Amino acid sequence: MIPDFLEDELDNYSLEDFLNHIEKCKNCKEELTIQFLIDAGIQRLEDGSTFNLSDELQLTIGDAWQRLRMRKRLLKTAYFLQVIVFAELIAAFALSVALK
Ligand SMILES: [Zn+2]
Repeated sequence: MIPDFLEDELDNYSLEDFLNHIEKCKNCKEELTIQFLIDAGIQRLEDGSTFNLSDELQLTIGDAWQRLRMRKRLLKTAYFLQVIVFAELIAAFALSVALK
């Protein structure tokens, strides 16, 4: 899942699993750190900017949490809107029946 995480290609469910696991599992955190270093570090070397590995990784993980929470909130909002639309449809239907 690490390459998918770095490419931001995990779905909400997998992403949450991944983030929770990374916080607990030393091996995977280490593997992520290495992959992250290879991915981001090489890019930084190319454009010559400075690079603080642990800061940047923390930032990336923090961003991922934030994105996950945002997506979940959007899903909840979408669900809520659907419920409202559905209720309106029922109301419109009831009204059209009552007015007949
Ligand atoms: Zn693990």
